[in-house]
This record gives sequence, C-alpha cells and structure tokens, in this order.
Amino acid sequence: MFLQIIKMKKITKAIHTPFQRRDVYDALQMPVYNCLAFEFDNASIMADAFCGRIDAPDYSRVLNPTVTHLEDIVRNITRAKEVSAFTSGMAAISAMLFSVAAAGKNIITSRHMFGNTFLLISNTLKRFGVEARFIDLADSEAVRRSIDNNTCCVFLESVTNPQTEVIDIREISKIAKEKDIPVIADTTMIPFTEFDGESIGLDFQVVSSTKYISGGATSLGGLIIDYGHYPELSRLIKKDAVFNLGGYMTPQVAYMQTLGMETLAVRYERQAASALEVAKVLETIPDVKRVYYPGLESHPDHEIFTDIYGDKGSAMIVMELENEEKCLKFINSLKMIHRATNLFDNRSLAIHPASTIFGPLTPQQREEMDIKPNVIRLSIGLEDVDDIIVDLKQAIASANE
Ligand SMILES: *Cc1c(COP(=O)(O)O)cnc(C)c1O
Repeated sequence: MFLQIIKMKKITKAIHTPFQRRDVYDALQMPVYNCLAFEFDNASIMADAFCGRIDAPDYSRVLNPTVTHLEDIVRNITRAKEVSAFTSGMAAISAMLFSVAAAGKNIITSRHMFGNTFLLISNTLKRFGVEARFIDLADSEAVRRSIDNNTCCVFLESVTNPQTEVIDIREISKIAKEKDIPVIADTTMIPFTEFDGESIGLDFQVVSSTKYISGGATSLGGLIIDYGHYPELSRLIKKDAVFNLGGYMTPQVAYMQTLGMETLAVRYERQAASALEVAKVLETIPDVKRVYYPGLESHPDHEIFTDIYGDKGSAMIVMELENEEKCLKFINSLKMIHRATNLFDNRSLAIHPASTIFGPLTPQQREEMDIKPNVIRLSIGLEDVDDIIVDLKQAIASANE
C-alpha cells in the first residue's frame, strides 16, 4: 500500500492516502474522532503508548486519528519525515521557533514578513532572551556575515506577505548548510503541492493551513513540515512543543482541512489563472501605479519565482494606487469583492494592509517593513474572473472621481 502511494502524483495522494488503521465501518472519508481519550487492552500497551514506544492515540491534545490522517496526507505529498498539525499558523510558527531557539541564541531573518510573526520574533521571543537579526535576505553576503556560533536558524517567508518578495531559498540554504544551520521557511503563499521544499534546500516549512488548505476559509490551522535533517529538533517539536505548549489541531478542523486538501490543486490552478488575468488587466489601468504579482514578467523576482514555484503565481496581488486616500476610497467602493482579511478564500477579498493588519505598528516599523500607505492587497477567489475585473475597474474609477 505504502509503495504504491509513493509513486502517485501529488493530487492523487491528496485523495488516496490510506488511513493508518482500517475503519471499523469502512468509512470512505476519515471520520471525525471527536473524543478526548482512548482505551487500551492492557497495562503494558497503555504504558507503551504513553511512553512513545508505539504510536497509538491516548489523549487528543497530543494525538488524534483524524489529525494524524491530515498529517499523513501532507507527509505523503511533501515526502517529509514528520508533519505536525496545529490550531493556527501562528501556533505552528511559535511551536517551531520555541523548539529551535533558546536564551542566548539568535535568529537570522528579514523584516519582510507577516505582522504577527514579526512581533513573535521581535517582542515575544526577545523576552526569553532570543535575539532577532533582521537583515536583507536577498543579500547572501549579509546572510553569511550575520551567522555566528549562536545562530539557531535562518527564518524566512517566501513569498512575503504582503511585499511579494521572493528570496532565493537555494542561495540561503547553501550558506546555511556550510554552517549547519537549519533553514525554516513560511511557505503559506504557495501550496506545497507546487514545489519540492527539500530539493530547494529547506529543512522545515511552516504553513498557515488557514489559507489555501482549509478549503475556502473553513477553519484555522497550521503545519510544521519537517524533512528530518535535525532529529533532536524533530523530537522537540513532537514531544516537547505539542505536549507542553498545547496548540495541536482539533479533529473537527482536521476533517475540514482534509476535505480542503482534496480540492486544493484544482482551486489553486483556477485562482492562480484568474489572478494572472486580473494582474494583467490592472497593469493596463493608468490609475494603478504599480502591480506586484510574481507571475508577471514585470515582477522584480519573477525569474526566481518561476524557477522555484513554477508558472502559477499564487492568488495574491498587490497594487499601488496614488495615495492612501484613494486606497480607502477604493475599498469603500467595492460592490462584490469583500472588505476582509484572509487569503485564498473562495471569495475575492481586498484589504488596505497599512491601516489594518499593520495598523498597530508604528509608522517607522511600517516603513522598515516596506508596508506602504498606498498599497492594496487582493486575494482572488473562485468567482468568474470577468465579474472580479468589473468590480475592480469600477472601484478604481470611483476612487479617482
Ligand atoms: C496568515 C498567515 C500566518 C498566520 O496564520 P494564522 O493561521 O492566521 O495563525 C502566518 N504567515 C503567513 C504568511 C500568513 O499569511
């Protein structure tokens, strides 16, 4: 059974990954094991399960068959050694960073990243004595210079949200490998069905499965995808972070996200195709000052992007209007596209990041993170692309009246 699954294509694995045990009723979909505790035949099996000598669920804070099935699907697709599922992207990222870091250690990273990850590293971890070294990760010499004996990891986001910067992970990985430093990437922006994380040099991926995987904004979730290059870290994630920090995914969410996985490739293909079409139209509108979409040739990192992630450029588009006032008028003029955060919902969404997600930061922090006041972030949904374009055009026109 397992050999067979290794040979299948990713989209097939998403649908046909076998359960670890045959279901007593032969259910086709993994049922929701909405229970807290599991019984054992005898004391010795019970001891084996609790001491980790066998993989059997005992308590749903740390192991649950419905969650295990989702982890197995992701493991099959990515060919990772271990996958751990969490209650949110932030729970996965914090479990990852609390596993790799310690007081006195430093993290090499960039200011181009998701707002809460930035705050986790620059505020929360700082309180525990972890130093953040924010550098320009596109500058490989800067990466080399910043690493010292206390560096615990290089952490980056690819593609960055919302700057759409694409770092060449292969370059970073070469430098980090020379020094035996793990490379961890938040790859939420591009589904792992589209590239091979290990072959581009990643040791770990963290993913907010809330986004593409949840199946149209059904639920919050997060994943750590671990290629097994650092066994002590793998143990800390599975046996320390999951047990002691909490934050393991719930079975209801795992069920919804398993369904999401089954349609992920199809949704992504369509959303990315629509996004490319929308991005091309936006480029022709004079009131749109600039369009950032990695699938467009005009994007500064287009070549690195297509080399690593292929020709589907994700469903996030960032555009610059003349100024903040026009951005807010644009948001207020939308008729179909929703004024909401989140990415990769089935519905198209629009947000003005500077006044919302990054609103609580200081203007100086926003500037350092390249969060411009005249930028709109769009997430392109599954609607007919013509309807999306009509709404965008009329809202841009209204903003300029
Ligand atoms: C949304 C997001 C997160 C956080 O994920 P949650 O599931 O909301 O906790 C982290 N990184 C990136 C790139 C994101 O887009």
